[in-house]
Amino acid sequence: MAIKKAYLLLLILGFMLVGNKSYSQADKESSVVYFTEDISPDGVMKIFQHVKDHVKGNVGIKVHFGEDGNEYFVPATMVEPLCKALNATLVETNVAYRGRRSQTATHIELARDHGFTFAPIDILDEGGILSLPIKGGTHFKTALIGKNIEKYETIVYFTHFKGHGSAGFGGCIKNVSMGMAVPQGKRAMHFNNFPKPDSSKCIACGDCVRDCPANAITLNPLKINKEKCIGCGKCISTCHNGAISKPDDEEQTKRFLEGLVEYAKPVVELKNSVFFNIVINVSPSCDCSGNPKTPFVPNIGILASTDIVAIEAAAHDLVDKAHHCNDAFLKVNSVSGKRQIEYAYQLGMGNMKYKLVNIDK
Ligand code: SF4
Ligand code: SF4
Repeated sequence: MAIKKAYLLLLILGFMLVGNKSYSQADKESSVVYFTEDISPDGVMKIFQHVKDHVKGNVGIKVHFGEDGNEYFVPATMVEPLCKALNATLVETNVAYRGRRSQTATHIELARDHGFTFAPIDILDEGGILSLPIKGGTHFKTALIGKNIEKYETIVYFTHFKGHGSAGFGGCIKNVSMGMAVPQGKRAMHFNNFPKPDSSKCIACGDCVRDCPANAITLNPLKINKEKCIGCGKCISTCHNGAISKPDDEEQTKRFLEGLVEYAKPVVELKNSVFFNIVINVSPSCDCSGNPKTPFVPNIGILASTDIVAIEAAAHDLVDKAHHCNDAFLKVNSVSGKRQIEYAYQLGMGNMKYKLVNIDK
């Protein structure tokens, strides 16, 4: 009887955790996610000691160099000692829209301007396209990735965990999928993901027009030209008046989130992968926004893991905890990105259950 009661209690507890969409459940099936509150280059080096055995051969470190006008991306100084210690190359891909990050020469110039001066930079699509079959996906059959990934045995995804107008949040999954895809691949993922304008809330400040990489927005009245829009979601993050939002079409959002996951799958299967989520400057907006919104929680810390699903779940839970709610990104971006985590788990990419190991203690 006592055993039956204990079992029932466990079931209820389990249901509460799922109901709350909190992924943290430490048991023997959990993946380990390391955590430090030491947000410094030293903190990066200390936490790296816990995952370093997974690193082999020639190393590429996938970073985001930050858009012009964005100050929230992870500063170059944070990754510098790690990059030097591994004799690594900083890797990125060009974007699908106008701006300095769309061409290799200007992309590297921007990276240098933002302090990434201490290592070689490899824009992976310079070498062409690597087409990787996606096993188990329903939206995509192949992922189009920067071919220069072939030069590296290990990729360290040094990721800024923050919001994203279309994806809810952007963490390691997005840094792999959108981050490693060539512009054609990025366009394919964004395809048909149009935001919804509400002219009655628009004060014609012009911020979204300046930030739109596709010249797709016109004002008075506010309109988005679907022929031009590439679905990047920047305008959703940029508008401070709620005049541009995610479409009500839940299927479209689900397709976008699942597409990100499918694109990431063959990439992490191809190489040794180590994941960092740097949970600082947690703005609702992506690092590709030149006009990002103010961070909405205090800086939290650094996470490291070899499990891409577990590290996303852990980072999301920490942000939710700091924001005192069950889905902080749903609140600030009107879109939950949690489908990324659940679908990645369904596709066998990792474990939603994790054990958070605080290395400071
Ligand atoms: S940012 Fe918002 S308020 Fe400003 S012009 Fe664009 S839609 Fe209108
Ligand atoms: S999603 Fe918004 S910012 Fe991006 S291309 Fe479309 S209209 Fe422009």
